[in-house]
Amino acid sequence: MSAASARSNPLSGSTATIAARLIEALFPAGEVLLAADPDALLAAVRGYLVRAALLRRGIGALLWWLELRCLLGGGRRFSGLGLEERRAFLARTAATRVGGGLLRALCIPFKVAYLLEPENARRVQVRDHVEVPERLEPARWQRQVTDACECEGDQKLEADVVVIGSGAGGAAAAYALASRSLAVVLLEEGSYHDRRDFNGRPLEVIPKLYRAMGTTVALGNAVIPIPIGRSVGGTTTINSGTCIRTPDRTLARWQREGLTELTREELEPYFQRVEAMLGVEPAAPEHVGEVGCVIRAGAQALGMTRAHPLQRAARDCDAQATCQFGCPTDAKRSTNVSFVPSALESGAFLFTGFRAKRLIREGSSVRGVEAVGAGRRGRPVALSVEARAVVVSMGALLTPLFLEANGLANGNLGANLTIHPAGLVAGRYPGRNFRNSYTIPQGYCVEDLADEGLMLEGSTMPFLVHGLLDPLVAEEYVRFTERYQETAYFGFMVRDTSKGRVRRSLRRGLPAIRYSMNAADLSLFLRGIEIVSRIHLKAGAAEVWIPGTRTGHVVRDEAELECFLGQKRRPGELAISAYHPLGTARIAACPGRGVCNVEHEVFGWKGLFIIDGSSVPGPVGANPQVTIMALASRAAEKLADRLVV
Ligand SMILES: Cc1cc2nc3c(=O)[nH]c(=O)nc-3n(C[C@H](O)[C@H](O)[C@H](O)COP(=O)(O)OP(=O)(O)OC[C@H]3O[C@@H](n4cnc5c(N)ncnc54)[C@H](O)[C@@H]3O)c2cc1C
Repeated sequence: MSAASARSNPLSGSTATIAARLIEALFPAGEVLLAADPDALLAAVRGYLVRAALLRRGIGALLWWLELRCLLGGGRRFSGLGLEERRAFLARTAATRVGGGLLRALCIPFKVAYLLEPENARRVQVRDHVEVPERLEPARWQRQVTDACECEGDQKLEADVVVIGSGAGGAAAAYALASRSLAVVLLEEGSYHDRRDFNGRPLEVIPKLYRAMGTTVALGNAVIPIPIGRSVGGTTTINSGTCIRTPDRTLARWQREGLTELTREELEPYFQRVEAMLGVEPAAPEHVGEVGCVIRAGAQALGMTRAHPLQRAARDCDAQATCQFGCPTDAKRSTNVSFVPSALESGAFLFTGFRAKRLIREGSSVRGVEAVGAGRRGRPVALSVEARAVVVSMGALLTPLFLEANGLANGNLGANLTIHPAGLVAGRYPGRNFRNSYTIPQGYCVEDLADEGLMLEGSTMPFLVHGLLDPLVAEEYVRFTERYQETAYFGFMVRDTSKGRVRRSLRRGLPAIRYSMNAADLSLFLRGIEIVSRIHLKAGAAEVWIPGTRTGHVVRDEAELECFLGQKRRPGELAISAYHPLGTARIAACPGRGVCNVEHEVFGWKGLFIIDGSSVPGPVGANPQVTIMALASRAAEKLADRLVV
């Protein structure tokens, strides 16, 4: 093979040989899973990465790193070792700090291909895809949707209000404004997708629905993924559908901070409207599945009394179990099937595939926004919307970047980021079948510790995530993977006091997120691990698995749990993720404390409003979409009062 063809196809030739040897070592036969076929798996990886040249090169480089590490450390190439020697080498490498991290990164594409292999899914009784309709009758409101790719040339529009972003905040605001007969233009950078696209196949769906393929991540004393959405519906299209009103203790805190208007009575009508729009009701126990029984039993044995199915925005849910990849039945009332269609039915217009870039303004009076998109034949097209008010609803990670680039200077912009750090603990219950992938992904909760700042929620984990959570290799990995159906997951999230920050990054349009977990939050996080572990042990789990970044920890009884908890832990060694970025352009009583006032208008500016997770004044201590939507409905109504004469 020529050097040029090796460069263009980095997973071929001798690199492919290393990959094949790695696959052979990684995936031996288990009790139900067959040993992986290296050629077939490598072909699958090549197929998945066919349009990701950079990633292919990265994997090629890591394969050669593995080969050379082995050569330098023991005088022999990895690909030249016998099977058992390769497995031993992998186990040794996995246990090291830097080498273990690189090995984990290298294994990801191979593990993904292994977990998505239909025969493996069948053997572990996993649903490998969901049925979606081929055709849908277009609804009348769809005539009011224009995608950039349909536009021949630049467009100029006038409206009363232009709303940027169609997620929880933007869609709820657009609906409230349009239903007051205001002329509303809703701009969305992502595309419109409907349930024909939501086929449950992660590799097809993630690029359509997740910004940067879900790789937005906070760096600090831990690496914390914070995925966000990028399509009509924003992050609601990929969320779990849980609906919880802002807790009273949170409202009380905001009132103490000067936001005296935010009382339960003030927000009550907005909660009611949001819940009516979303059809909020408790998850049906049969679709929560057996995991609910196990968690209730464990919680009750610990003296807890507030374990129950979660309130959800998914009335007719039949547990397709793919909420985070879009709902294939439209049962989940994310804003793409609730607030957005209702706003369009009320007369709003939606422009998709347009990225808002520049505010049109005279000094600090904002008059509209300019956006760009890829028009017909991929040519850039501009959309300019002049409006009496501009509502920025790009989400807590992006709103500050846009406003900073447009000249807004306020020390609180981008600061005060809270994320509700989330963790999970799995219990293994031999002989039981939790029908994971046939139950609601997040359907049950235990609220007893909510006042302390800990909400326990969860249940099913997709098979793909289960298999990627575990950094193990070879027999241990295969054993862990094939125990999917006897594993019950349960999670928790922390009402954090740590504060992060978002800034512009070198990745175009993406934020650099800094977040370090403080000692109080770390101790609350460990308390979450402790409580969920105890729940599993009390419920009869044979062992409890606590995921970690380098290695997972297995505890079989209280004594082993005490031993785990007795050791000093750093955030960086715990598996932490987050789904609720909030507060980076928060409402506040005065400019020194936030970016906008309690009517969501930016301090010192005219006609500029922020209505999304960024404007939420702090951590909610519960899943935030209802809070964001209720605050959005309130702010939009107050804006409408000013605009409707
Ligand atoms: C996996 C997951 C599960 C979750 N589960 C739940 C749950 O069960 N319950 C709950 O309450 N919360 C949940 N959340 C969180 C919740 O969905 C978010 O808090 C909420 O959607 C945030 O709303 P938002 O309006 O701030 O931003 P988003 O919903 O993210 O919307 C922002 C929109 O703005 C668009 N945009 C950004 N920049 C531009 C630009 N320049 N021009 C045009 N458009 C732009 C984006 O593409 C996006 O569509 C979950 C989140 C995740 C990731």
